[in-house]
Amino acid sequence: MFDFKSVFSFKKTYIPLILSGFFTVLVLQNEYQNIQSAIKFAFDRVKSNREINQLFITYSRTISLQRDRFIEQVYESDVFHGLNFAFEDGTVITNSDIDKHSTFDRRGRAWYVCAKKKKQGEYCVTDVYLDVLTPSRLRHVITFSYPVYEDGKFLGVGVSDINVDALNADTHFMKLEYYRREKPSMDFYVMNITACFFMIFLVLCILRVLFFVLVDKVFTQSRHDLLTGLKRREHFSSDKIDARTKAFCFLDIDHFKSINDTYGHDVGDKAIKSFSDCIRNSIRAEDVVFRWGGEEFLILVRGKKDEKPDVPSMMTRLCEQVEAINIKGVPKFTVSVGFYEYRVGDDVDLCIKNADIALYKAKRSGRNRVIRYDSSLAMDTLG
Ligand code: GH3
Ligand code: MG
Ligand code: MG
Repeated sequence: MFDFKSVFSFKKTYIPLILSGFFTVLVLQNEYQNIQSAIKFAFDRVKSNREINQLFITYSRTISLQRDRFIEQVYESDVFHGLNFAFEDGTVITNSDIDKHSTFDRRGRAWYVCAKKKKQGEYCVTDVYLDVLTPSRLRHVITFSYPVYEDGKFLGVGVSDINVDALNADTHFMKLEYYRREKPSMDFYVMNITACFFMIFLVLCILRVLFFVLVDKVFTQSRHDLLTGLKRREHFSSDKIDARTKAFCFLDIDHFKSINDTYGHDVGDKAIKSFSDCIRNSIRAEDVVFRWGGEEFLILVRGKKDEKPDVPSMMTRLCEQVEAINIKGVPKFTVSVGFYEYRVGDDVDLCIKNADIALYKAKRSGRNRVIRYDSSLAMDTLG
């Protein structure tokens, strides 16, 4: 049998979930700070070099995902407008209003062809022309392009459209160049591996919770009767009968058929529902109820090992509560109860049979009463 309580336990699911969530936030926060400080570093270098043609280091080579993120963050800044970087494979990263990532026909771009012929440190500058790509912001620009090499290998072309009107002593231009940390620090590896680990863990924990919520729903639905919400007979298991089981009590609504016949099946359903609600409200937390058949229910009275609950009083009180049920449109009804007091070692099938015999006796003796099983009843039935 599936043990929900242990699988769903706080320790097994929620504590790892909370811990991994906490560490993931920590790691991401740290990563965010790293990126921010790298950007600040690049900005500061740009600001300290006020002349055009200065080379500025702008991105670190970590993993490709971070490289793109870094470049995007730099480009999204208002300080540097109109920066692009064209990679050799034909892709472009840009902060222009048109698009963030696009492809370009490198043969058709004079600036690319020009810059590609240049050596490291050299650049190309176009004549002044009218930039018509952003019609809302017509301006005269020059296009400034330069090759970017990695370890002597051509990587792509950095290109910047410079607003001619904005050229003055305070203008800062940022040029993209390849920057490689000689060796990523140990910190970097540790942080990234930890981040991956915690993110995977977080996702697994969330999946685990979702899975069990789903399974629990399906299980609960199939285990419980739809009309009453009580456990169904099929889920009664004699394995659960132990020293804490005190009595088997069968309850059956009296003359229920006539309620159905006189008032209709819907009213009959309402009577069953009100009866099951009454049982649920009347029993204690440790007791267990099953809908055994149509209008017949089994209550397992349970308690501590040495406890001796007063089953007749409990059942009599329940009968009185059933009699007192007052629901508009539902006729008054009564219930008969037969119970068998369990002793450790008793055969469970026999317990059920004996409780049923007691119920039969309650019916035959006039209904609306509680009868305890004793061996004379068995003789009675046989007779
Ligand atoms: P007794 O006092 O001897 O128990 O008589 P009774 O009429 O209660 O017993 P009987 O076994 O003759 O009839 C039970 C009826 O309960 C028959 C069945 O159609 C009806 N029944 C069973 N399940 C449901 C249900 O879910 N809803 C409704 N409305 N009726 C049901
Ligand atoms: Mg009945
Ligand atoms: Mg019945």
